[in-house]
Amino acid sequence: MTASGAKMTAKLILGKEVSAEIYGELRKRIEDLKSRGVTPGLAVVLVGDDPASQVYVRKKGEMCEELGMKSLIVRMPAETTQEELLAKVDELNNDPSIHGFLVQLPLPGHIDEDAVINAISPAKDVDCFHPSNVGRMLIGDPDFLPATPAGVQQMIVRSGIDTSGKHVVVVGRSNIVGKPMAAMMVQKGAGADSTVTVVHSRTRNLAEITSTADILIVAIGKPRFVTADMVKEGAVVIDVGTNRVDDPTHPKGSRLVGDVDFDAVKEKASYITPVPGGVGPMTICMLMANAVRAAEKVVG
Ligand code: NDP
Repeated sequence: MTASGAKMTAKLILGKEVSAEIYGELRKRIEDLKSRGVTPGLAVVLVGDDPASQVYVRKKGEMCEELGMKSLIVRMPAETTQEELLAKVDELNNDPSIHGFLVQLPLPGHIDEDAVINAISPAKDVDCFHPSNVGRMLIGDPDFLPATPAGVQQMIVRSGIDTSGKHVVVVGRSNIVGKPMAAMMVQKGAGADSTVTVVHSRTRNLAEITSTADILIVAIGKPRFVTADMVKEGAVVIDVGTNRVDDPTHPKGSRLVGDVDFDAVKEKASYITPVPGGVGPMTICMLMANAVRAAEKVVG
């Protein structure tokens, strides 16, 4: 309810709209780089034939081309050895036409993911998974920001939501989303300066904590886990989760839902991101931003 007693329906924050704004800015930066003789190049290494990874890799390549960047997709068979993959990483580290690259995760079980991430040159680590880049983010001096949390932060900032002094509760503590998200929001400066709490599967009284959040960011991978009673009236709710659930009424027999019970929570929140259409499009967008930044760093 609002102060006047009227029922509130949240404003939607749409990833397509926010990313379109950012792509507009990136296009100008790419033009500028090209006018200085540099075409930003992004490579993606895919080992094996995981269907979801194939889709992500294809989308990344398409977006590069749409922006006028150089795209290189390196496909390696599932039996690729760790040595072969490390040799490919070394080759890309030393390829001047490739400014940034990533190795699509997950990797087949016989390959040590950490060894591969550690072998990527931090200057080209556009996923921002290398420990050196994670550390730089933590101390507030980043070259790159990890794509999904950076996308969430952009959605908040570009919606005109003030984060300074706000209580941000992050649900989930993965290295890809929850932990870097919390680290970013606690930094000094615009778009951050928040008071941050991280909750996870071992947290006691989780609902009590989430209901004190001014900004609630959920990344756990549990369909509709966050219900309306766990959300404060007027909170900003960002749903990172993407879960496929059975739905016989849908042509595919299933559909995507988030970690938040969208229909109920939207009646209580001030802003909310839908699934699909919310955070999803931001991840690739921020990856592209990192690739452009990597090229700009080379040009100086
Ligand atoms: P992980 O599985 O790596 O981590 C999940 C986190 O959620 C863990 O920290 C876990 O806690 C916590 N968690 C699980 N169950 C509960 C619970 N019942 N209560 C509280 N915390 C819980 O997932 P990711 O961070 O990689 O991804 C999270 C979701 O976000 C997924 O749905 C994923 O598909 C989606 N995602 C979406 C992206 C996008 O572009 N839109 C990009 C990346 C992820 P603990 O550590 O204690 O086990």
